Amino acid sequence: MPRVKVKPRHVRRFRALGVALLLAACSPPPQPAPKPPEPWAGSPSVSRAPDRGPPSTWPPAAGCQAPQYAAAAAANAASLDRLTWAPYRRPEIGWRVYAPRIGREIRSPCPPESAGFARALADWQRIEGLPGGGRLDAVTFDRVRAKASAARPFAQLRGRCPAPPAPGALAAATPREGYGGKAIALRAGALAAYRRMVAAAYAESAEIRADSRNLTIFSGFRPPELEAERCLRFDCDGVTRARCSAHRTGLALDLYVGHAPGYGPDSSADPNRLHQTHTPTYRWLLANAGRFGFVDYPFEPWHWEWTGEPP
Ligand SMILES: [Zn+2]
Repeated sequence: MPRVKVKPRHVRRFRALGVALLLAACSPPPQPAPKPPEPWAGSPSVSRAPDRGPPSTWPPAAGCQAPQYAAAAAANAASLDRLTWAPYRRPEIGWRVYAPRIGREIRSPCPPESAGFARALADWQRIEGLPGGGRLDAVTFDRVRAKASAARPFAQLRGRCPAPPAPGALAAATPREGYGGKAIALRAGALAAYRRMVAAAYAESAEIRADSRNLTIFSGFRPPELEAERCLRFDCDGVTRARCSAHRTGLALDLYVGHAPGYGPDSSADPNRLHQTHTPTYRWLLANAGRFGFVDYPFEPWHWEWTGEPP
């Protein structure tokens, strides 16, 4: 079980007060100089050892005990790295990559193999009218996926492809906000919300502050011509690239949340996504991005969409 830091309540309160003061003062986000971009590896090596990501920030299992759910917890522990399924059409093994996202949905901070997690999942399944009794299965995750999709206005267009925003509606991010200094444009409202979110993240998390690449943007607005050109170079019929991407709205951002050794921050390879969904940056986004109007696409830990304006 990973060691976990639990801050005393007065420290958390004091920190929250500090965050409120910082936001009230509209301070600009602390932006240390970005590190030079890393070479993004192309295809991952198949011989790499499995990467479970950095240490978890889950609380100790002591707060996650529920003896009556021991059997469900044992079933979850067994399927966590073995379930064979295709939650996003592409075959996957195990559901550990989605465990933090599921935990957020069911409002459980407990480790996915714990009885506390199973208890919270059972409660959620009951409310949702699903079977399972605390066991994670494909049907249950399908509901998590559907709820995440329902929260994305772009996904609710259901294939209708929106026109891109007028050029005057776009604003340029600063070089420090772009990953490796990359030029990024977003709708002005989305950029302002992004800046508020980054200011909060850097104020609230020393782990996020520790790497100035965290939450830099590696893709923002992409004009339809660029999308079409990408589709000539890559297969756009798979799960990872769309002919009509949310990036054409100027409301979608790809954020640096870390990456596994040997992978790029946009690699959808399963070992990379597993690493990413356990970084402090991703975990902070899961818990807090909604405060700033951002919603996620669970398959891509880096992809977030601002909901403050229609797509
Ligand atoms: Zn994206």
